[in-house]
Parts: sequence; C-alpha cells; structure tokens
Amino acid sequence: MATGETLHSQFVPRSRKVRILATLGPASNTPDMIRKLAEAGADAFRINMSHGNHEDHRKVVEIIRSLERELERPTTILADLQGPKLRVGRFAGAGAILEKGQTFVFDRSEEPGTAQRVSLPHREIFSAVEEGTRLLIDDGKLVHRVMSATADRIETVVEVGGRISNNKGLNVPDVVLPLAALTDKDRADLAFALDQHVDWIAISFVQRPEDVAEARRLIAGRAALLAKIEKPAAIERLEGILELADAVMVARGDLGVELPPEQVPAFQKRIVETARRMGRPVVVATQMLESMIDSPSPTRAEVSDVATAVYDGADAVMLSAESASGKYPCEAVSMMNRIATSVESDPTHAARVHFTETLPDPTTADAIAQAANTMVGTVDAAAIVCFTLSGSTARRLSRERPAVPLLVLTPSPKTARRLGILWGAHAVRTKDVANFEEMIAKAKRMALRHRVAKGGDRLVIIAGVPFGTPGSTNVIHIVRLVGDELDRYKGQKEAARATRH
Ligand code: PEP
Repeated sequence: MATGETLHSQFVPRSRKVRILATLGPASNTPDMIRKLAEAGADAFRINMSHGNHEDHRKVVEIIRSLERELERPTTILADLQGPKLRVGRFAGAGAILEKGQTFVFDRSEEPGTAQRVSLPHREIFSAVEEGTRLLIDDGKLVHRVMSATADRIETVVEVGGRISNNKGLNVPDVVLPLAALTDKDRADLAFALDQHVDWIAISFVQRPEDVAEARRLIAGRAALLAKIEKPAAIERLEGILELADAVMVARGDLGVELPPEQVPAFQKRIVETARRMGRPVVVATQMLESMIDSPSPTRAEVSDVATAVYDGADAVMLSAESASGKYPCEAVSMMNRIATSVESDPTHAARVHFTETLPDPTTADAIAQAANTMVGTVDAAAIVCFTLSGSTARRLSRERPAVPLLVLTPSPKTARRLGILWGAHAVRTKDVANFEEMIAKAKRMALRHRVAKGGDRLVIIAGVPFGTPGSTNVIHIVRLVGDELDRYKGQKEAARATRH
C-alpha cells in the first residue's frame, strides 16, 4: 500500500460495529467474488489451510492485497492452520457398517480396514486412552467406548453404530492427548503464511496454554495469533490460553462434537465473556447460516443465532462453508451484515452488550481508555480518535464497546490490518504526528474525511507522548470541530483536486 493519507479519501467506515469474517474457498476465491464479498460486508477473510494448496492460497492473498489497494481499506487475512486433526485409516471397499454392541479394534497394522478393525495412524493415542474413554468418529456420528488399550491395540465396544469409511475424523474429548500443537503440515503452512504476510494465524485443537506458547514462539511477532477453542480441555484452561493468545474463536463445529451440543451455548457465552473481560477479540464461528450453503435465505433460527452473538458483544461473526463452498456466498455475507446492522440499531443492544463487565486493568492505558468512553457520554462526543502504533490502545478502547465510532490512526499497515477483526475499530493508515498541534489538526481532518464527525461536533482524542513511542498512551483531549474548519477542510480538498487536474 502506498503511504499518505490521501489514499483513504474514499474509505468511509462501516457503521456496523461487529465484524464479518468470511472463509474463502472454491465458491469465492476469484477477484470478482472477493470484491463482491467485501462490498457485501466482509471485513476480513479466512484462508482454511485444511483445503487447497500453497499456490491457490498465494493467489488469494495477492487478490486481497490488490483489492485492498484499490478500495483503500485495510483488509485482514487470517490463515487457519489445520492442527492435529485425527483420522482413522483406509478400508477395503472404502468403508464398513458397524453395529451397536459389537466390538471393534483400532490398531497399528497397515492392512486395509474391515468391519472388525481399522488402522489408527496416531501412535500417541494408544497410550493416552484407558477403559471408558470415548472415541467419536465422523463428527460424532459413531461412538465407541474403550474396553482396553495397549501400545498398539485399542479394543472398543460400539455404542452408536453406522457407516465408517476412509480417513474419517476422530475426536477423543475425554483426555488431554499428548499431541504437538503443530503438525509438520502446520509448520510448513505457517512458514508459507508468514511469507505471504498474513495478518493473523489461527491454531486449531488447542488443548493447553503451552500449545499457544509454542505457536507464539514460531510466529515471533510476524502475525497476530488466534487460538481456536474447540476442545473441552481448552475450556478448562481458558484464562491461561487467553493470556497468551491475541484473540480466540468459539469453533463450534468441533466443540459440538467434543461436547454434547446442548452444552455449546453456555460455553459460547463463557468464552465470549471471558475473552471480553480479558480484552481479547473473540470470533463466533461455524454453522451460523449453514442452510445458506444450499438456500438463498437462512432459517429463522440461524438469524437468531447470529443475532445472539452480536447481542453478546462478540467482536466478529464468521462464515465457513457458506462463503467458501456454498451456492450463495454473497447472499450469506449480505444476510449477516443485515442481521448485525439490525441488531445494533435495536435500542436494547448497548445495554445487552454491556451486560458483560469489562473492568480496566490498573494501567495508565486502561484508565485512559475507560475515561475516554465516559467522556464521550459527558460531552456527547461524535467519535473517539485514537493514535496508535501497535494497536494496543485501540484494543483497550474497543473493549469498552463505545457507542460512537472509534477511528484508529496508525502509521503501521500491519497494525491497521490486524485491527480488522476488532469490534468497532475503523483503522486508517496515516503518517505519524510529531507534536500536539499536529495531533489535533490530524484528528479533526481525519474525522471529517472519514465522516465520523461534522462541524460543531466534539471529538475525544487519545494519543501517547512522546509521539511515535509504542506503549506511551497518556494523553486524552477533547476538541470541537468549529463550523469554518469544515469549510477550510473542503477548501483544502478542492485546492488539492485542482492541483491534480
Ligand atoms: C470449527 O470446528 O468450528 C472450526 C472453525 O474449525 P474448522 O472449520 O477448521 O473445522
């Protein structure tokens, strides 16, 4: 992206606060479709590393970056690593029918599977399971209970039968598995994604804080890190995981396999609340508009599901197959946009969002963020303008869930892009300011340019002195945009335009 604030003259922030994260895939990974998804309301794009190859993903990143230059809007890319997904081996004849009550063996033989046994190519599981452990196959459609286990053989009884077939997924929700957080494939995908300068890396099947620490070490600050919460073990250590992650996702697909589905809503609320309390962005994901994979309109229950996540104050809502491989990717994004906009215009929305108390940490930056939010109400300010290098001040402000637009000014394209999944943040890349006068002038100019305020409005400005120093947030200032400033700004714009022609 070229430098300079004139680049952003077309970029008017969305009025919607919650962000929309759309997964790309065969139904949507062309320039035309990605543009349409962005126009329909997608703020951020997810590349699912479980599918496709590096060449496909490289093209997608190129398309997004080129669109970003054209739309002059920082656009977020999240690369989602597959993680240690477990799978059974292959079968003679591609599959077998298992009956309830029969015994079935998982072993280390390489022979094709039968109705009595199949290979399990994950050595670590044999020593981790014990009598009574459940093994769930194919998203939990088949349930086995372990009767006995040795280093190369697990004998089970089938509790829920059905058809088992080649390479079906396996979940073991009852124990913490001694699996590395990242497989060899994940490491190769991670190196590739970092090479492509993606903004966020998502890690899958996180079980403990150590998994996040390991990924953090490998990423080494080159991207932000999102931990997907999809295992009961991760919920038990949620706070430890949140300490180390930059964001979390309620990954309800696998979570609803590992837990009885009726328990997922309570855990969803707990994860959203804990993340918000700890000031980490939280994404609610999977099956949000599932029926729109095949249908141009969603079920009423799906609409209500998206609305619930918005009322709960999630930072972002995500589309998976709906936008990646469904028949109606644009309609799904547009529907999500309409639901979110409608919920946010409900007069009870703010009160419901603030149901979760987000007490500030005892730091200067948190005190300032909280004070800024209070000041907005006291002086009826039109917007908050926040100068930030690393984005941490923007995160603190977003945690307050302010009622007015939050315009984030940063010289760092990396920071601007990373903020794309943050509730209510409108990040704009612009040159840094050198002194107090420049700070005020720029805040006013950018507020007008990005149409978050007009003549007569007040702004609450937050910055750090010395300017250009990360972690220095210590200034809070209120200014009023007097009427003739608007005229002067318009005059400057016209003069600039005349010089260009
Ligand atoms: C999920 O399980 O909900 C999820 C988001 O992960 P994936 O789509 O990679 O299965």
